[in-house]
Amino acid sequence: MSKKHLITVADGDGIGPEIMEAALHVLQEAGAQIEIEKVVIGEKLYLSGHPTGIEESAWDSLRKTKVFLKAPITTPQGGGYRSLNVTIRGALGLYANVRPCASYSPFVQTKHPNMDLVIIRENEEDLYTGIEYQQTPEVCQALKLISRPGSEKICRYAFEYARRFGRKKVTCFTKDNILKLSDGLFHKVFEEIGEEYPDIEKEHWIIDIGSAKLADTPEAFDVVVLPNLYGDILSDIAAQISGSVGLAGSANIGEKGAMFEAIHGSAPRRAGQNIANPSGLMLASVLMLLHIHQPDVATRIHNAWLKTIEEGIHTNDIYNEKTSREKVGTLEFAKAVSQRLGQKPDTLTAVNYETGAKEEWAHHGSKPISTKRELIGVDFYFYSHDPVETLAQKVQELPTSPLKLTRITNRGSEVWPAGFPETFCVDHFRCRFLADGPIKPQTIASLYHRLADSGLDVIQTANLYTFDGHPSFSK
Ligand code: NAD
Repeated sequence: MSKKHLITVADGDGIGPEIMEAALHVLQEAGAQIEIEKVVIGEKLYLSGHPTGIEESAWDSLRKTKVFLKAPITTPQGGGYRSLNVTIRGALGLYANVRPCASYSPFVQTKHPNMDLVIIRENEEDLYTGIEYQQTPEVCQALKLISRPGSEKICRYAFEYARRFGRKKVTCFTKDNILKLSDGLFHKVFEEIGEEYPDIEKEHWIIDIGSAKLADTPEAFDVVVLPNLYGDILSDIAAQISGSVGLAGSANIGEKGAMFEAIHGSAPRRAGQNIANPSGLMLASVLMLLHIHQPDVATRIHNAWLKTIEEGIHTNDIYNEKTSREKVGTLEFAKAVSQRLGQKPDTLTAVNYETGAKEEWAHHGSKPISTKRELIGVDFYFYSHDPVETLAQKVQELPTSPLKLTRITNRGSEVWPAGFPETFCVDHFRCRFLADGPIKPQTIASLYHRLADSGLDVIQTANLYTFDGHPSFSK
């Protein structure tokens, strides 16, 4: 018998304790080689003064076990509480969020009977860095950060995942027709990494039409990889259209740890009634078993679960008179699954995880990129209610050489020297200064002093660089 794998478990809030009991029952009956260390997280801790909903002893456990099976928690109403998931993902470097979304037609009602896709969402970057500023009375700004190493890690993860689970195609969604540098980098890295996987088809969609296509024809997709915000939205859509949010599990994977959970929340109104569907957490525990290299147990549980669904033994949320045979409670559902351990579904496709390769997600190291970086200008942002001509005049009255004011924009639209009188302006102007060749940072610092001394209200600056001679900033 193999050595038991130590895991951290949190019962969570609302329906959490019930669905965790159900999931652990099945894990135990299936012979999972796990040893459990329980921690308390969530509502109780938030309300007792822990702004992140987790205390030091739980961190100690997570650092030790590196595997977290987590039931949903309730975030108390009102401000000031940080998302526990965002905290854990950031602290443990869980860069990949993996969410398989399959339909189980005709046993669970869905408009998309042939859907079987996996969303792989980048988990650490993009707008989820949460870096925001109010810069003027009228304008707030959020910083979207996309990095090459971050994009490489998630794109490689997606292709490795596809190869490991015998999937044929990886689709990337971005908005690089607008966000040419940030989303453009993600798309570029996707193409570069994809070249290392000639056995796997790759395609790219612009996120808007791609999402429409996915919501309409999800069976056309296999593995989908995408930046954080788009992934957040699309993975909920994909789970919902597959049949029920109560069915999907997800994995958050990093190089130093992993967290497994249902995709739904703590459903407080269903708590304590033994009616919640424990399937999401059960399927999350299947993903956990794969992560800790127990594919035989994962296969047994997943097939027994499919068989239970197929036999029409359903919890209230998916029960319907046409295809369900018996309406059962949370624990009864778990018992029905454990009674079917060793069986396979007849109509739904059985799984077999024992033939796949082991999970091996070590990042191969970032590809070296161009290094010749030259500073050639600066964007100064001003808080101003002046007409743009007045602002331009005030700036031009100052000595700015070797930098020259070339353009003023308002929310990205040019308003000086060209522009349309119809353009609506807010109190947030960007003045672009360019030099004919490379400049020193001190040039920008001196200009900052002169602008501020003249009474202009500078709110932000952004340096403008060329990389290997190419201007690398939005035009
Ligand atoms: P929710 O997912 O809890 O509920 C949405 C709807 O789905 C409700 O009608 C609920 O009854 C139903 N539902 C959810 N899971 C179900 C299940 N297993 N079986 C049957 N029905 C189920 O979302 P919500 O109501 O927006 O949020 C409730 C609480 O959960 C909030 O405090 C929220 O912050 C928290 N939440 C936590 C997590 C997490 O811990 N990962 C994720 C999402 C929401």
